[in-house]
Amino acid sequence: MKPFLSEIASGPLARRSSRTAKIVYGKKEVLIGGNAPVVVQSMTNTDTADVIGTAIQIKDLARAGSELVRITVNNQEAAAAVPAIREQLDRMGVDVPLIGDFHYNGHILLRDYPECAQALSKYRINPGNVGQGAKRDTQFAQMIEMACRYDKPVRIGVNWGSLDQDLLARIMDENASLADPRTAQSVMYQALITSAIENAQRAEELGLGSDKIILSCKVSGVQDLIAVYRELSARCDYPLHLGLTEAGMGSKGIVASTAAMGVLLQEGIGDTIRISLTPEPGGDRCREVIVGQEILQTMGLRKFTPMVIACPGCGRTTSTVFQELADDIQTFLRDQMPVWKKQYPGVENMNVAVMGCIVNGPGESKHANIGISLPGTGESPAAPVFIDGTKAMTLRGDRIAEEFQAIVLDYVQKRYGSAAEVESN
Ligand code: SF4
Repeated sequence: MKPFLSEIASGPLARRSSRTAKIVYGKKEVLIGGNAPVVVQSMTNTDTADVIGTAIQIKDLARAGSELVRITVNNQEAAAAVPAIREQLDRMGVDVPLIGDFHYNGHILLRDYPECAQALSKYRINPGNVGQGAKRDTQFAQMIEMACRYDKPVRIGVNWGSLDQDLLARIMDENASLADPRTAQSVMYQALITSAIENAQRAEELGLGSDKIILSCKVSGVQDLIAVYRELSARCDYPLHLGLTEAGMGSKGIVASTAAMGVLLQEGIGDTIRISLTPEPGGDRCREVIVGQEILQTMGLRKFTPMVIACPGCGRTTSTVFQELADDIQTFLRDQMPVWKKQYPGVENMNVAVMGCIVNGPGESKHANIGISLPGTGESPAAPVFIDGTKAMTLRGDRIAEEFQAIVLDYVQKRYGSAAEVESN
């Protein structure tokens, strides 16, 4: 065997160099791009005209950790509701900046509903949906004029389901005249990227600051997204919004989004992410926020919430006790975070291990801040608990879950409560 000669490198490639856009609401500022942490954002699926329903969902998304929330502004009722939604959020103490998603009639709605234009912190413009033919340029210019007037950043968000057909035709013609024409797939990539960059340049020509522009080129295939963003990131220095559009439902949506974004984030590409999951009927919209956070946290790019390390279980665990305990503790930790992140700074770095038996249980538990190793089949009915690598106690009986939760809470208060006191002094 060769001697151990050099460092084994770990971690993502250097972050792509980009401008920084600032999204502001009141005193709240969210930075996208530059050296700012990758931002998690989400989108509501309520009828925006339903002020209370939309405000409640925005509050839930923000509480789950969404740093920006996008709402569709699709008609007059929605535009009229936006200021009322903002006021309702203010009353609830929710300061998350709101993004308005505009298609087809955004130029009219922003013009006719100035309070809506003001209440939003950012506009999303889809260049494929701002109008056809000669109207297209005029209506795009009207939206940019509103962004300039209200001093709002915009995302120029291209989507291959609504690609500007005139531009696509132009690029196809250019391709046809080449001696060695590119593939249809390559033409599609080129059209997406060109649409984003040309419209960004046009927005700058119309007076919008280059630090007020964020780009996205969303597609629904993993390899397509990776190819498009690699090229887009090389061709401009605008901050990039990553998202796999129509990612899908359940595990497929999560896996596809994670596969695509994992590759790009590892290459230093991407400044804000949104996971476009289709919720199951009755499902929780906040799932897309949790998945986004977990992608970033498991890649070591950000810390949001204490992580639970749990073994998968096997034939050595014949009951569901340890699965339930792992789930309970993960839910408990996540539910506490809106309060804990203010009360216990640094708690998001904590690791908790919940293991099913003695094979890997004590070892993994010792590596965590707190770990519990539950008894597997045939083992003595005792659950040793390790705190900071040392066996601290053994739990027995029917109340192991409650007792372990109390131990975790006590640890958090002692370990991170003092950090809060030091910071406030
Ligand atoms: S720690 Fe024990 S229960 Fe968990 S997977 Fe390993 S052997 Fe199975």
